[in-house]
This record gives sequence, structure tokens and C-alpha cells, in this order.
Amino acid sequence: MSWHLLGAGSLGSLWAARLSSAGHSVELILRNEQRLTDYLRAGGLQVRQGEQVQRHALPAGLASDPVPIRRLLLACKAYDAASAIASVASRLQPDSQVILLQNGLGSQQAVADLLPQSQCIGASSTEGAYRENDFQVVFAGQGHTWLGTSPASPAPDWFGELASASIPASWVDDIDARLWRKLALNCAINPLTVLHDCRNGGLRAHESEVQTLCDELCQLLARCAPEAAIGLHETVWQVINATAANYSSMYQDVQQGRRTEIDYLLSHACRSAEQHGLTLPALNQLQQRLQHHLQQRGLPCR
Ligand code: NAP
Repeated sequence: MSWHLLGAGSLGSLWAARLSSAGHSVELILRNEQRLTDYLRAGGLQVRQGEQVQRHALPAGLASDPVPIRRLLLACKAYDAASAIASVASRLQPDSQVILLQNGLGSQQAVADLLPQSQCIGASSTEGAYRENDFQVVFAGQGHTWLGTSPASPAPDWFGELASASIPASWVDDIDARLWRKLALNCAINPLTVLHDCRNGGLRAHESEVQTLCDELCQLLARCAPEAAIGLHETVWQVINATAANYSSMYQDVQQGRRTEIDYLLSHACRSAEQHGLTLPALNQLQQRLQHHLQQRGLPCR
């Protein structure tokens, strides 16, 4: 069975390249005729890892193509997920499976609402990739991907294909808690790196601010995913120390004038707190400061 990939950007290209190299059939779905022309002109996807460069001339088409889709990897940004899925919804077979590689929370539910007949699989990944150029991706950080459904279900029969393609992955029965945990780590670190204009390690100079955010995030997790609250403060500091020299993904997005995924991270946390009747002043203030900062730079604040 073919894998279809919608979202041939950084992370999606990594998946497509590895699956294809392992002999699995992969077809890209590109945004429009212009992007298809660009792709054909580029001669396929290029993935660089260190000095090693590999080109993958994978077949590509458009959302409007008639071929039915049974297994789809959705690898666009969270804010594009619903519209991207809507563009291929009529091609998805009733028993299709859709893997959602989006960071944060909120986009998965939006996609699931559009696809009542498909099985939606959430994913949380620590792999790192970025685009050097159109269809040229750098594999920057080895990592792991956790996949699963909500409610939990057994691993699908194709799950072994990921190991055969050297994609480090585990099937889990607590994907929501893992997504919440990652969202909380992101909320405690990324917005502050933007507002203080610093690398992750720079947050060591703002210890009490980080601690207050962790306190409030623990209150939120206690309502939404209690197991994700365990040891949050310690993990946040471990991440800050282990990635002290790095700029956070949100910092890089803002620096490069790219839209952030704030609406699926910090704003999702604030909305969820409100729905649970929680008052979390530091988190709300952080959201307002970040939105103001984005607005001043002409970037969308959602
Ligand atoms: P990205 O490099 O910006 O790639 C997104 C891709 O989606 C682009 O190629 C874009 O096409 C495509 N796209 C958007 N809407 C589309 C549509 N309607 N039809 C077809 N293609 C469409 O993003 P990314 O960095 O891979 O991130 C994807 C998700 O993975 C995000 O939620 C991110 O947070 C998460 N994530 C990323 C990493 C990482 O290291 N990159 C790690 C962990 C998690 P165009 O090229 O035409 O714009």
C-alpha cells in the first residue's frame, strides 16, 4: 500500500525519504501546479545529513488527483492542517489512516472532525529538520517519534514499516499526555526565549519566571493530562540545560519572519485553562506579551 505525504517540508521530507529508501511506495501531494513545477525542476527531494546528500525523485501530484488514499502522512504546520486535509478529504477511503505530525494541540481535533470515517493517529516527535531551500532539507537532529490514537488502539499492521525505514518510533497508548507534556515544555521555554531575545540557556537568568510558568502549567496538566505534570519543573530545566546553546523553534520562526504555531501551543493552553475555570495569570500575561510582540513584527498572533 502506498504512503501519501501531504506537506513535503522539513519533517515530511525526512519521513518520505526514509520510507522510499527502504523500498516503500511514497507519493507526494503538493500545494498547487506551481509547487509541482518547482518540485520537478528541483529533480525531487534532497536530504542532507552532515556531509551526506541524497536525492529522492519521488512521484508527486496534486490534491485534485483521483487516486484514492488509504494511508496519509500529514506533515504541514498545525495552522494549515485543517485546510490541507479538506483538500484531499474526498480521496480518503473510509478505512484510511491519517498520521498527524503537527506539534501542539488543537489541530488534531480539527482534522478528526473533518474525517469521521478515518482513523487519526497523533504523533509527537523530537526529530529535527529544517529547509535549506525549496525541497532541500537538512536532517539536523536524531530523535524519536511516539504515535498513538485517542482513545488508545493497537498498533496498525504497517507500524513495522517505520522500523524497516530506520524511523525511530514507538506506538503508545497515551499520545494525548505526551502531546500535552511537549506543549507544556514548549510553553515554559519558547515564548520566553522570544521575549528575552535569548538562546534556551539564557532562561537561566529568568529562573523565577520559568518556575512560575511551570507552577501554572502543572495546574493545567492536573486537569487535562495528570500524568504529564509529573516532574515538569525538573524536565523543563533539563531541557534548558541540554539545549542551552540552541535557539528555540519559535525564536527561529520569529527571527525569520515566519508565522508561529502559537495558537496550538500557548494560546491552546490559555483556552484550555479558561474552559476548566482555572485562573493562570502568568500564562495569560505571557500570551498577551507574545501576541503583542508578534503583532509589532507584522506576524499573525494566532
Ligand atoms: P515546514 O517545513 O514548513 O513544511 C510544511 C509543508 O507543508 C510545506 O512544504 C508546505 O508547502 C506544506 N503545506 C502546507 N499546506 C499545504 C497544502 N494545503 N497542500 C500541500 N502542502 C501544504 O514544516 P515542518 O517544520 O516540517 O513542520 C511540520 C509540523 O511538524 C509542525 O507542526 C512542526 O511543529 C512539527 N515538527 C517539526 C519538526 C522539525 O524539526 N521541523 C520537529 C518536530 C515537530 P509549501 O512548501 O508549498 O509551503
